[in-house]
Amino acid sequence: MRRVKIAVIGAGPAGIASGVEAKLHGIEPVVILEKAPHLCDTIERLYRPNKRVDAIYRGVEVEAIGNCRFETESREAFLERMKKWVEEYNLEVELNSEVNYIKRLGDVYEITVNNEPKFYAEFVIIAIGIFGQPKKPDYPIPKELKGRVFFEPPSLCPSAGKVLVVGGGDTAAEVASFLCPNCEVYLSYRRPQFFRINPVNLKILEEKVAQGKVKLLMGTDIEKLEADDGKVRVFYRNGSVDTYDFVYYCLGGSTPKGFLKYIGVEFDLEDQPKIDQHFETNLPGVFLAGDIAVPKGTIQLAFNTAYIIIRRIKERVSQR
Ligand SMILES: Cc1cc2nc3c(=O)[nH]c(=O)nc-3n(C[C@H](O)[C@H](O)[C@H](O)COP(=O)(O)OP(=O)(O)OC[C@H]3O[C@@H](n4cnc5c(N)ncnc54)[C@H](O)[C@@H]3O)c2cc1C
Repeated sequence: MRRVKIAVIGAGPAGIASGVEAKLHGIEPVVILEKAPHLCDTIERLYRPNKRVDAIYRGVEVEAIGNCRFETESREAFLERMKKWVEEYNLEVELNSEVNYIKRLGDVYEITVNNEPKFYAEFVIIAIGIFGQPKKPDYPIPKELKGRVFFEPPSLCPSAGKVLVVGGGDTAAEVASFLCPNCEVYLSYRRPQFFRINPVNLKILEEKVAQGKVKLLMGTDIEKLEADDGKVRVFYRNGSVDTYDFVYYCLGGSTPKGFLKYIGVEFDLEDQPKIDQHFETNLPGVFLAGDIAVPKGTIQLAFNTAYIIIRRIKERVSQR
């Protein structure tokens, strides 16, 4: 068992920024525990190659308030930036280290990693994001549709086929545009118009629609799916039925409530984790950073939450 000042759970943008800010505020030792074999698993896994990483995302424009910031750049450049920060600031990141549990023991938290207690930490920053659990529709997805229905954006475009993309955000717009070269693409969104796609993605999507490469199905809601001779039959609530080769749901992620409730984080009446203005939970010294701490997560917001948390920890440490 090793004792650290801060254990950061997750090496995504929020976790890495927590490490950078801690270093710049002179707080150590800090360990960052990441369950994947690489940094930034959400970006590695869900962003397709060369995807633009937008500094203003989902219409959320925030000023950088701390030391971590970036300009719009490619996925590859952004991942390189994260790697460079880890090296430059000499951050201690343990990969392949999934945190399963944290428990208060006197004045520290015992951190269980890969099912073994491994660290005692005075403070814990939980930065595990929301994309470990993609949001799924309420209706059941028939088992026979495995390999036809997806809840994550594709990294490769199928060589041909009729595809349905479901969702109305930036990811849905990007996926629809990405699939155009080879596929006949339909985009189903339950609202009558888009309201949270950023201007760049909207412009690209509108061009594809004007060229007839994407057909918009606005104001459509899906009731159920059925298997249809290896394809996906989609029943819309307005009574129409159509068959697709592949369906991609782009509905975003959901807060990992199971983990947070299991370790004792309290939730409010709207089922959101209870946190104060410094992102501290009801467990003293345990903070939530990044996507799990804010209603509409972006990378710059994740960086900013890390700064606020580290400032708060610094205050606490100085008071002691
Ligand atoms: C397809 C897509 C496109 C996007 N495009 C943009 C964009 O252009 N611009 C933008 O600002 N935002 C974009 N976002 C949102 C952005 O990715 C998130 O806001 C950002 O990644 C949040 O950072 P985070 O560190 O909070 O969480 P994450 O990036 O999700 O990182 C969480 C990390 O924690 C690890 N982890 C999870 N559980 C554990 C555990 N128990 N133990 C140890 N490690 C654990 C995960 O493996 C992961 O590495 C996009 C999201 C998606 C899905």
